[in-house]
Amino acid sequence: MHIPFVDLKSQYREIENEIKEAAARVFQHGIFVQGPDVTEFENTFAEYLGVKHGIGVGSGTDALYIALKCLGIGKGDEVITAANSFIATSEAISMTEAEVVFADYNTETYNIDLNDLASKVSKRTKAVVPVHIYGQPVDMEKLSAFAKEHHLFIVEDAAQAHGASFKNKKVGTFGHAGCFSFYPSKNLGAYGDGGAIVTNDDQLAKKCRMFADHGRKTKYDHQIEGCNSKLDSLQAAFLNVKLKYLEGWTERRISSASFYNNTLKEIVATPKVISGARHVYHLYVVRMKNRDQVRKQLSEKGIDTGIHYPVPLPLLEAYSNFGYEPSDFPIASSLKDEILSLPMHEHLTEEQIEYVADQIKIFIQ
Ligand SMILES: *Cc1c(COP(=O)(O)O)cnc(C)c1O
Repeated sequence: MHIPFVDLKSQYREIENEIKEAAARVFQHGIFVQGPDVTEFENTFAEYLGVKHGIGVGSGTDALYIALKCLGIGKGDEVITAANSFIATSEAISMTEAEVVFADYNTETYNIDLNDLASKVSKRTKAVVPVHIYGQPVDMEKLSAFAKEHHLFIVEDAAQAHGASFKNKKVGTFGHAGCFSFYPSKNLGAYGDGGAIVTNDDQLAKKCRMFADHGRKTKYDHQIEGCNSKLDSLQAAFLNVKLKYLEGWTERRISSASFYNNTLKEIVATPKVISGARHVYHLYVVRMKNRDQVRKQLSEKGIDTGIHYPVPLPLLEAYSNFGYEPSDFPIASSLKDEILSLPMHEHLTEEQIEYVADQIKIFIQ
C-alpha cells in the first residue's frame, strides 16, 4: 500500500468536470489577467472569511511582502515572527528591508510563544507576523491585546489555515491584514502559484491593490513604484470551483485528525487544540523520541511523511549572519528532532489512517 502525503490526483478526480469547464470559460472569454474570475474569487473568498476586501496576488509570499510594505514597514523597522514556519514568512519581512526578529514557539500549539514575543519587542518593533502553523489558530485575542498595547501592526500568515477560526472568527480577519497562499498543496490550492491579502481597512486595500499592479491608479498613471503580482484568471477560475468544496474538505480533514488522535494518542504526542479554536489540519503533526527511525520504517512500508520544519528559521544558513545558537531558541531546537507530519489530505480514508497508525504502533511498541 502507498499512502501519499497529499493526494491532488484524487482531489482532481472529484472535481475534474468543473475544472475543465472553468478553464474552457477563461479560454473563451480571453481575459487572462485580472477580469471577472479574479473579481469573483476576491469577493467570494472575502465573504467566506467575513472580511471586507480581498486582493488576489501572485503568491502567499507576495501577499505578506505587499501587506507589510503597504503598512509602511521598511528600513530601520523590526518585525517579529515565529521561529517555526516556512522561510516565506521571514523572507517577506526581509524583502521590505525591515529586520526580522524571531520568537520561539509553544510546545503545545507549535505557535509563537507570547512570552518570548514580549521579550523581543524593542523601540523599533513595528509589526508582528503570527503564523497559524499547521492550520492551528494563534490565540488572536491575547495577541491582538498585546499588539495594541505595543502599537504594533498585525499581519497574519494564514497560508496554512484557510477556514481556521478562533472563537468563531476566521483567521486572517483579526489583523490589519491577513495573507493566504494558494500553492497547490495548501488546504485551498490552485494549479500553480497564487495568494491573497484580506483586510477590513479600505485605505490599505486600495494601496495593496495599487502596489501589486505597478503602483498605478489608471493605465499609465503610476503613483508609486510597486511590483507586478497578480492572481491569474485561470487560477482564480479554479479557485472559484475549489472554494465551494473547502468547508466539506476541511470537515474531512478534521475527522481524519480525530481518527488519528483516537488511534495514536496512547503512543505519540498528538496535536492539542487550544480552547475556542478550529484547527484545520493543513498538517497533522505528532511528536516522538525516535522520529528518524520511525520515519524510515514508515517509508519502507509505503507511507510518505514530512518534517515541518527540519531546521528552525533562525538557525537556517540564510540567517547565519545573525549568529544564533540553538540555545537561543530552546523549544524549536529540541522539538525539531521529534516532530513528524503524517499523511493528511481531504481524500484520506479510514483504512489508510488505520494502516499508518498500525505501522507506527509496530515500530514504537
Ligand atoms: C506556503 C506558505 C507561505 C508561502 O506561500 P507561497 O504561496 O508558496 O509563496 C507562507 N507562509 C507559510 C507558513 C506557508 O506555509
